[in-house]
Amino acid sequence: MNKLWVRLTVAFVAITLLSIALVALLATTAATDQFTTYLTGQQAMNQAALADDLAAYYRQNGSWGGVDAVIATSDTAGMGRGRGAMNGMGAAMRGATAVTLANAAGTVVYGDGAGQLLPAVDRAQAQIIAVNGATVGYLLVISPGRLIFNQAQQAFVDQLQRNVILAALGATAIAIALGLVISRALATPLADLSRAARAFGRRDWSARANPTGTTETADVAQALNQMAESLQKAERNRRDMVADIAHELRTPVTVIQGNLRAMLDGVYPLEIAEVATLYDETLLLNRLIDDLRELALAEAGQLHMNARPSDAVALLHVAAERFSPIADAQGVRITVQATDGLAQVQADPDRLGQVLRILLVNALRYTPAGQSVTLAAVSGPAGMLRLSVTDTGAGIAPEDLPYIFDRFYRGDKSRARISGGTGLGLAIARSLVEAMGGQIGVDSTPGQGSRFWFTLPAPK
Ligand code: ADP
Repeated sequence: MNKLWVRLTVAFVAITLLSIALVALLATTAATDQFTTYLTGQQAMNQAALADDLAAYYRQNGSWGGVDAVIATSDTAGMGRGRGAMNGMGAAMRGATAVTLANAAGTVVYGDGAGQLLPAVDRAQAQIIAVNGATVGYLLVISPGRLIFNQAQQAFVDQLQRNVILAALGATAIAIALGLVISRALATPLADLSRAARAFGRRDWSARANPTGTTETADVAQALNQMAESLQKAERNRRDMVADIAHELRTPVTVIQGNLRAMLDGVYPLEIAEVATLYDETLLLNRLIDDLRELALAEAGQLHMNARPSDAVALLHVAAERFSPIADAQGVRITVQATDGLAQVQADPDRLGQVLRILLVNALRYTPAGQSVTLAAVSGPAGMLRLSVTDTGAGIAPEDLPYIFDRFYRGDKSRARISGGTGLGLAIARSLVEAMGGQIGVDSTPGQGSRFWFTLPAPK
């Protein structure tokens, strides 16, 4: 009973039966009313005809003597007399109609209570029979309160009722069929939605809901599929991240463990230089853990951001000054190209400084002595400011370009590891820039250098 198709079918049948019952009631009442009006009219006509016959009889005979025979024939002939089609209808009154005739004095000469006075009430209702202007009698034709139909009329009403019942049966069958078809059309997509939702609950991401049925169910199916896709992506992301982290931690831990084992076994001498190498490995591990934490927070959108109108050009100068000693030691020149007082950006200055640091560390790492690194700021489209860090260093191979913002992606695996890169810098930079409402990208030509750029929105 709780099933949609059962409820819909029952509702359809109920509505159909109710409508048919209403139509049947109206049709039968209307037909009966019509007959009653018709018969009443005819009765009046028959009564008038009988009154004419009686007046003619009185005129001829001068009294009511022997009128019984006249009424008996007139009753038969008069009620159904010569009215063509009405003949049959007149017959309906026969036998059901009481005819009473009283003389001028009010004494009943025909009908019930013969010889007695016609009660005043009846006399008031009776039709006066007059001959030459003088009242000669009173005619009272009393029909039963309810007219009785003859066979033909009854057959007509019966036929009407039969037709209504047939129509009700037919309509019920159609209502059941329609209810089944429509409820199936509604219930099937719903069943499909719950099948898909259950599959998603079991983490079966290959399942998809069919966007069929009504617009609403198709919308729900699409929303469900989108949700499944993003859950699938999140799960894949989480799995990849765990695998990446395990892989990244394994190398330094294996190095530390192997070296310590060798020292314990007396294979390696316990020398300061050896211990210092192991210490460097722990530093790398520490940096990796810090970067991972930072990236996880940034990707989850949980990094504390204190976005406010900030002077991006001033921040470029601060970053350039901070890296000048390292750049000088490397023989690389850092310059800032930006118009002072350029439009401000809506950003967290600490996070913006962090992005610049990541890009500068990379630029200096891949730029040989004698080359240069340039920090720049220009107005971008739609009120955005475009900041860039350009180096004239190694550049990036085209096949690496699509992946360098992925976590743990390193262009030159061995070199990056030796240089102490965790492979997380650009992934963190991208998360930070996106968290501040901007975009990040790179243009690079191998051998000529790279330009890392990112945009930030103007203050609101
Ligand atoms: P890493 O810790 O290895 O630097 P990043 O995410 O910062 O990790 O960088 C990813 C990779 O992108 C690097 O391993 C390197 O191959 C490439 N890359 C980044 N910046 C530069 C650059 N300025 N010039 C050339 N290659 C770069």
